[in-house]
Order: sequence, then structure tokens, then C-alpha cells
Amino acid sequence: MTRIENSSFGKEFMNNLINRNPGEVEFHQAVHEVTESLLDFIEDNPKYKNAKILERMSEAERIIIFRVPWVDDKGNIQVNRGYRVEMNSAIGPYKGGLRFHPTVNLGILKFLAFEQVFKNSLTTLPMGGGKGGSDFDPKQKTDGEVMRFCQSFMTELSKHIGPNTDVPAGDIGVGGREIGFLFGQYKRLRNEFTGVLTGKGREWGGSLIRPEATGYGNVYFAEEMLKTQNDNFKGKIVSISGSGNVAQFTAEKIIELGGKVVTLSDSSGFIYDADGIDEEKLKFVMRLKNIKRGRIEEYAKKFGVEYHPNERPWKIKCDVALPSATQNEINKEEAELLIKNGCICVSEGANMPSTPEAIEVYLKNKILFGPGKAANAGGVSVSGLEMSQNSLRLSWTREEVDAQLKRIMQDIHTTCVKYGKNKDGFVNYMDGANIGGFVKVAEAMLAQGLV
Ligand code: NAP
Repeated sequence: MTRIENSSFGKEFMNNLINRNPGEVEFHQAVHEVTESLLDFIEDNPKYKNAKILERMSEAERIIIFRVPWVDDKGNIQVNRGYRVEMNSAIGPYKGGLRFHPTVNLGILKFLAFEQVFKNSLTTLPMGGGKGGSDFDPKQKTDGEVMRFCQSFMTELSKHIGPNTDVPAGDIGVGGREIGFLFGQYKRLRNEFTGVLTGKGREWGGSLIRPEATGYGNVYFAEEMLKTQNDNFKGKIVSISGSGNVAQFTAEKIIELGGKVVTLSDSSGFIYDADGIDEEKLKFVMRLKNIKRGRIEEYAKKFGVEYHPNERPWKIKCDVALPSATQNEINKEEAELLIKNGCICVSEGANMPSTPEAIEVYLKNKILFGPGKAANAGGVSVSGLEMSQNSLRLSWTREEVDAQLKRIMQDIHTTCVKYGKNKDGFVNYMDGANIGGFVKVAEAMLAQGLV
């Protein structure tokens, strides 16, 4: 029986949430996970319950939904839907990425925005939480089509964001190219050169290490978890899913630390390279994905390794699994397979890649499990550092930013241990991240009155 099922407050809260947000299953899942962690803590601290902090935190401060019309290369009119979920601004301006993917809907963006509030709080930086995007699919579109879409999207979004209000960044389908088009249009509409977006190019206000930050940060976090067992990445076999921004720089850091990366994937399938993906092969992946915008299958053809179409990489034996593609990409059976094959650590580069049943398997087997809101907070942390540099009109060196990123990931790890360590010494990082993230936001909300 779950903690929620054992608590009348928990049951009533979740029933209300589901009734008020029908059909938004990913949002229900994200709130359910947090509530499981928080229930005992809230019972022990009635000030949060009395002030209905959890009820308020699971209701967005503002949601904007808008039409995005644009013209494709053949002259046809296309219509997409745009969103921005401004979830919580108790500790700073709304901050969180934009996702362009055909699966995007309101429920998915609400789950991501809700997670982002806790994640941003954990970073120690002053950032509230938000998320946005569109059901637009940049795949198979020309640069001109992507630009026209981004310009139309920003024409509406620009009315709702600003460097002191809401500062979006990239996410799935939104990389350097898209941020450039979005920034250019914002600047044109507002006649302002400000830090309104992060993930900008180096020449126009971007921070060094921002592209690397989520992947590197996840590896730093996993390294801290391994350290608690006097272990490290040297010689470890590592499975990574995805082959986008997060996956690429996760692989880069693992290779640097002496681990062996054996898998990468995309939404069509995964590759298994038993010899390990080395620096040269990774360069091929970066060119393939970032410039050619091709499929991961081409890696298998180029290097003569196994390709598994329409499958995920979790059946491959590994010591550490770093899911870095999308939500709900490891289910119960796959989690059981990972553990059966000797996996000792799962650290989430993606947001909510493990289903609740998979998480139960990790916790039951007491492996090291780093939940996304802690483990992948490196991206938004360096986004926060990009905002600081923009305000100061300064650029820090690669070494300075990397050192700050590492320190932040170590601090997040310390917070997780502080709030997640059980009496038997086992650290439940999920409880630690949820409670640690909650306290700061909840205290700010209490101090600010009924907001
Ligand atoms: P990305 O560069 O667009 O790469 C996404 C990768 O995941 C691609 O390989 C993509 O394959 C795969 N993928 C996407 N949807 C999928 C699906 N439904 N099934 C299977 N594979 C799928 O995005 P990213 O920035 O690396 O983001 C990856 C994950 O990290 C997301 O969960 C994101 O929310 C999270 N995250 C990102 C950041 C950041 O700074 N970028 C920060 C924190 C968390 P296809 O190309 O075939 O679609």
C-alpha cells in the first residue's frame, strides 16, 4: 500500500487533482510521486498543510495557450498550438525549457513545469518554474520552415516573457538553431537585447558549458552517488538512451572519466557498440544528429555494430544506466532486467524517464537512483548562470562555469542526502529531492502571503 493510500489527506488531494485535471496522466504521475515523498513531512509540519501549499503548488499561476500559424516551403498554411505554463514564481522568474515535439500537450507541459519548480529550487539559484512548447515537429523541416514557425511562435510568446518575468530555454526539439530564431524575433519585436532566453550562442550572450551542462551535470551527480560507495566510473559499462543534447554530453563526460558507453538511441531504435563509443565515434554522432539531422541507425551501418529497431536499450548488460531521451522510457520489466544484469545505478538525464513501477523496483533493490529533478538540474543551473552573466554583461571562462556546475551538483546531492537518508542509512534520493525542493518554495510562499 502506498503512503497516499494510507492517508485520507493524500487520497482526497490526489482525487481532487485528477478530477480538476482530467486526462492529464503525466501530470497526475508527477504530482503523485512528489506527494508520496512529501506526505509524512507535511504531516510533521502542519503549517504547510494549513496553508494548502501543496494544493497551490499543483495549480499553475498562469497558462497561456495560443495559435501558431505559419507557411511551409510549398506555400501551404500550417497551424500548430503553442503553450507556456507559468507554474510558480515564489523564488524567482519562471524558468524552464520549450519542447517542440508532436506528442506535446497540456498535461505533459504541466508535468514538466511542476517538476521544474522543485528542480530549480534544488539548484540553490533564484529561479521559479515554468515550461512551454508546441506540437510542432522540427524533424524533416527545412531551416526556413523552422525559422518561420519560431518567428510566429515568438510573436505571441513575447507578450508574456521577459528577463525579469519568464526566461525560456531549450528542451526536446529546441536546440541552438531554434533558440537563435526565437531570440532574433523577440529582439525585433521588443527592440531589446536582453537575457530573455538561455541556451543562446556564444557570440550573442550564451554561456560556455550550457550545451554540455545537463549531460555533464548528470554524470557529476551520479559520480557523487557512486562516491558514497567508494566507487567511480572507471571501467564501468554505461547504457545511455537518446542521442540528442543530453545523451551526447553525458557520453562525452563518461568517456573522459574512463567509462565505456555501449548504447545510444532515438525514437526509431537503439545501437549497441560492445567495444564502446569512443571520442571519434561520438564526433560522428554529433555531426549526424546536430548537422545532418539523421537517424542513429546510420551509426550501426558506419561502424558495423548491432541496431535494434523499435527497441529501447535496457536489455543490454550495464553497470550504470543513464536514460536521456524522454518520459516513461523504462518500465517495470526493463527495470527488473537492468537489476538482474547487475546495474547498480540509474541516474535520470531525461525528465521522468522511469515509470512509478520501475522506481519501485530500484528502491526495493536499494540501488543508487538519481531522480531527474536532481540529476538533470545541471542544465537549468547553467541557464541560471547564463542569466547572471547577462545581467552583469560579463562572460565567465569554461573552467569557472564548469566548476560552478560541479559545485551545484554536489550541493544538490548533499540536499538529497540530508532529506532522503533513512534510519538504516539508505538514501532515498527521490524523497530527498522532493522534500529538499519543496521546503524552499513553501517557505517563500508562506512569507509572501496568500499568493
Ligand atoms: P533532444 O536534443 O531533442 O534529444 C531527444 C532525444 O530523445 C532524441 O534522440 C530523440 O529521438 C529521443 N526521443 C524524444 N522523444 C522520444 C520518444 N517519444 N521515444 C523515444 N525517443 C525519444 O532533447 P534533449 O534536450 O536531449 O532532452 C532529452 C531529455 O532530457 C528530455 O526528457 C528533456 O526534458 C530532458 N532535459 C533536457 C535538458 C536540456 O538542457 N536540454 C535539461 C533537463 C532535462 P528522435 O530524434 O528520434 O525524436
